[in-house]
Amino acid sequence: MTKMFKIALPDGSVKEMPEGSTPADVAAAIGPGLAKAALAAKVDGEVRDITRPFEGDAQLALITSRDEKDALELVRHDFAHILAEAVQNLYPGTQITFGPATDDGFYYDFAPTAEHGPFTEEELPAIEEEMRRIIARDEPLVREVWTRDQVRDFFEKQGEAFKAEWVMELPEGETITMYRTGEGEDAWVDLCRGPHLASTGKLDPSAFKLTRVSGAYWRGDPKNPMLSRIYGTAWLNKKQLDAYVVRLEEAAKRDHRKIGQEMDLFHLQAEAHGSVFWHPNGYIIWRELEAYMRRRLDSAGYLEVKTPQLMDARQWEKSGHWGKYRENMFIVPDSIPVVPEDEEDDTPVICDPDADLMALKPMNCPAHVLIFNQGIKSYRDLPLRLAEFGCCHRNEPHGALHGILRVRQFTQDDAHIFVTEEQLVDEIVAFCDLLDSVYRDLGFDSYAIKLALRPDKRFGSDAEWDHSEQVLRAAVAKAGRNTEEFGWEELPGEGAFYAPKLEFHLTDAIGRTWQVGTIQADTVLPERLDANYVGEDGQKHRPVMLHRAIIGTFERFIGILIEHYAGKFPLWLAPVQAVVTTIVSDADAYAAEVAAKLAAAGIRVESDLRNEKINYKVREHSLKKVPLLLVVGKREAEEGTVALRRLGSEDRQVVMTLDEAVAMIASEKVPPDLRVN
Ligand SMILES: [Zn+2]
Ligand SMILES: [Zn+2]
Repeated sequence: MTKMFKIALPDGSVKEMPEGSTPADVAAAIGPGLAKAALAAKVDGEVRDITRPFEGDAQLALITSRDEKDALELVRHDFAHILAEAVQNLYPGTQITFGPATDDGFYYDFAPTAEHGPFTEEELPAIEEEMRRIIARDEPLVREVWTRDQVRDFFEKQGEAFKAEWVMELPEGETITMYRTGEGEDAWVDLCRGPHLASTGKLDPSAFKLTRVSGAYWRGDPKNPMLSRIYGTAWLNKKQLDAYVVRLEEAAKRDHRKIGQEMDLFHLQAEAHGSVFWHPNGYIIWRELEAYMRRRLDSAGYLEVKTPQLMDARQWEKSGHWGKYRENMFIVPDSIPVVPEDEEDDTPVICDPDADLMALKPMNCPAHVLIFNQGIKSYRDLPLRLAEFGCCHRNEPHGALHGILRVRQFTQDDAHIFVTEEQLVDEIVAFCDLLDSVYRDLGFDSYAIKLALRPDKRFGSDAEWDHSEQVLRAAVAKAGRNTEEFGWEELPGEGAFYAPKLEFHLTDAIGRTWQVGTIQADTVLPERLDANYVGEDGQKHRPVMLHRAIIGTFERFIGILIEHYAGKFPLWLAPVQAVVTTIVSDADAYAAEVAAKLAAAGIRVESDLRNEKINYKVREHSLKKVPLLLVVGKREAEEGTVALRRLGSEDRQVVMTLDEAVAMIASEKVPPDLRVN
């Protein structure tokens, strides 16, 4: 008698299916529409091939293109296999290695033959064509279970040294699966965990694009051979691909490095890897932002402090950073090193082996506890909110750096709030409200809140972690923001080593998200550094320490602002707010008068009296994203007026008296927190 399995479906119904049947059979039993739409299956929560037979009773959910996240991952992995098959069809002798799905597509690493050498971008169109032929053949993708030795023998026979090496490192006895694309002699086989779609014809041949080629070391190790990595982007349909391409083009136009140069905001150079040279224009944005944040913190009851850049290694040992964070710290010996006298001399720099070690601070937290620990604190002093625009250094690998978004020297809008257990939830609610108002002031209407839960490498007991995670949950609920509107979500394993954290992710003008704000409730550091206060009962108690930031770091946040606004800053942040320019040189004296009046009203103004065509000047100032142009000629000089043009509508101008213009600009440039409505 055939054994029957009970297959439970998401709607609560149960289907009896004979042993040997597959999720595809269930889909077919439900209806032909679903049979066609189903791409893969979630069996007891695990994504699997739709043609893989059930092994017993199971919970089944069928995955269709509506389950976008799962569907995209499957499709991208399929494309990676098809890319590898196409490359081997076109370039026999090329060896395959690995090819995972990525956030926007896939890549595959190849070892090209010595005669061919690395792949080039010119070859991508031909490879795309071959991939489309494989899709058109609608080849089945079949999962097979092999033994380790079978796999090794197979790859050795095929001349696939990388795959043969890799498979022997898999634990013995582990189920090893191979995926076969196509049938018979021409079948293409790859070692793969899967899952995959049932056949190549399930992919949309117009929904992918090979994008670029780069070098990558075998297993990421520079001692290993250099491979040739081909990247692609892949989507469920052409519409999604087109939207993605538009998004990329839009992002390239907004690139903060490009705009930073056009507006003369900052530069970077190799002599200071990952540290920003702020030019006058860029530093105006910084100063406005810092002044704004300082006003917001002052009125929210924070006290500003400044703490040392360098501290003794022993202090970092006490705080726990030396053990868990040292690889990210810049360490400095507290002695004068012996440096060779001239360039010829190749003796190495010698440091006194007994010298004390200092480290540049990678974060401000321990220093703030040291301030808290000065003198006796009472429960009446709490909550104590210590804020610092703290300059920190972290030793990030060069490859991880990116413009001013990923740097090694950065300044946080950092603060630590020392509270009693009872004050915790309300203090986090107050933080959520402050942050909400800051983001809206800075032009972001949409952001998401996520709770990053305990990581594997951590301090503290499970009970402490249970408690601190629960406090953050409760506070977001009390703030009324644990909702879909705020993208509320929990992220297992992503907390810091000393505490879980709330993360605040901004959505920018083109729909990208950026994590900037955080708050973490920490009991570990107060314990390690012995912080305490005298409670109402006259006894010593440990405060809880909230680590929090709203904009994160000035460097990265200004980078985000540049891309969000595409350089077209609101007036209060614009480095140059207005340019006075002339049509004819006999208005020069009047232009100087206009500029002087604007400057006297605190407006950042420049004059452009060059003997150039007005259209030329307009174009130039528009490239520099100057928000307001005041054009003056003979007539304006006689009548005491200006012709005002706004960035983005340069061909339209409004004529007004000089006094009206000054009053209007002066009121428009008021930062959002100082406006009286
Ligand atoms: Zn695979
Ligand atoms: Zn901190």
